[in-house]
Amino acid sequence: MNTIRFVNLCLQSGSNYYRYILPARTGLQFFNKPFALSQHSTRFYSEKMSKPKVYVTRAITTEAMNILEEFCEVSSWPEPDPVSRDVLLENVSGKDALFCLLTDRIDKEVLDKAGPNLKIIATMSVGYDHLDVNEIKKRNIKIGYTPDVLTDATAELTVALLLATSRRLLEANEEARNGGWKAWSPFWLCGPGLNGATVGIVGFGRIGQEVAKRLKPFNIKRLIYHNRSEKAKEAKEIGATRVNLEELLAESDFVIATCALTPETKEMFNDCAFKKMKPTAVFINTSRGGVVHQESLVRALTHKTIWGAGLDVMTPEPLPVDDPLFKLKNCVILPHIGSATIEARSTMAMLTAKNILAGLKGENMPAELKI
Ligand code: NAP
Repeated sequence: MNTIRFVNLCLQSGSNYYRYILPARTGLQFFNKPFALSQHSTRFYSEKMSKPKVYVTRAITTEAMNILEEFCEVSSWPEPDPVSRDVLLENVSGKDALFCLLTDRIDKEVLDKAGPNLKIIATMSVGYDHLDVNEIKKRNIKIGYTPDVLTDATAELTVALLLATSRRLLEANEEARNGGWKAWSPFWLCGPGLNGATVGIVGFGRIGQEVAKRLKPFNIKRLIYHNRSEKAKEAKEIGATRVNLEELLAESDFVIATCALTPETKEMFNDCAFKKMKPTAVFINTSRGGVVHQESLVRALTHKTIWGAGLDVMTPEPLPVDDPLFKLKNCVILPHIGSATIEARSTMAMLTAKNILAGLKGENMPAELKI
């Protein structure tokens, strides 16, 4: 008996993918035609070979979902709220790739549950403190992340948060709405200005440097930074000086945290650090809540050890509405919206999907985390 075998021919041209299901011989003839195909960009799947399985932990953009579905069998948690731990553990089982977010803790338990098929973990974030990187590396799983594409958005938000805090914008808006605005008043709702100020940036990476560039035109007097490694070339171009942490805390009118959360930076902003700051200092954090010892910050704000704080990140997230930080007028709190521009979030979703596709095909990921 003659059986006809079919091949599933996938072709990539630029960023477009084409799939053909053809009788094997036709498929091979087709393949033999002079198409400009690289070895990496073609894949054959016999009809019995299943597509790689991907689990996506949140509702993402249609565009990102579409490019994943072209090549993968995709299942997802379709809600805007985070996937529960139980649902994640159940659904990650047997998957080849995981599309996750910073709200998903990816640790040994998740990896064990996923099993040996898991080859790629792509997080839709630049921060990766929610991933147990050592466990992941032990299993030769590749990690994709989203550097650069959110840098501008997060730097913009950092500047916005700084001004909202120092110029008391939220408090002022509240006063205007609730009848607290009686008349123009010389010292009402005043705060420290940027003009002539010393700005200190802790973590002079991609976001830290973009924050620095955006603050220069405010006519600041001095820009100083503290970073794990020297950033001599970038600092020279921007006009920043490297100092140790002690000096930065003591000298800065504005202390801005844009460092990564690591075992070394965990709770580095503690009682001791706040005591070293000026009583007029404004502290801004757009990195991760974990870099701050939060009880120390509450103390520093309550006792006016520092002037005020603006936080886009905190511990835990979401911050319970009865948290002492919400009771403090000199603290501005945002719900982790650093990268929340439409453009940045869409590009982050797309880059995460592309990281997965490239990883599954054995190609270089557009943004692989190499530690
Ligand atoms: P990045 O380029 O890797 O910058 C992180 C910087 O932190 C690096 O320059 C690094 O120094 C520095 N650093 C690490 N450990 C340090 C230490 N012990 N002391 C001083 N500096 C230290 O990353 P990025 O793209 O700028 O992002 C920075 C962080 O921002 C992310 O990790 C993420 O947590 C956070 N983030 C938050 C939001 C938000 O929505 N609020 C959005 C995006 C990112 P080296 O150069 O020596 O490695």
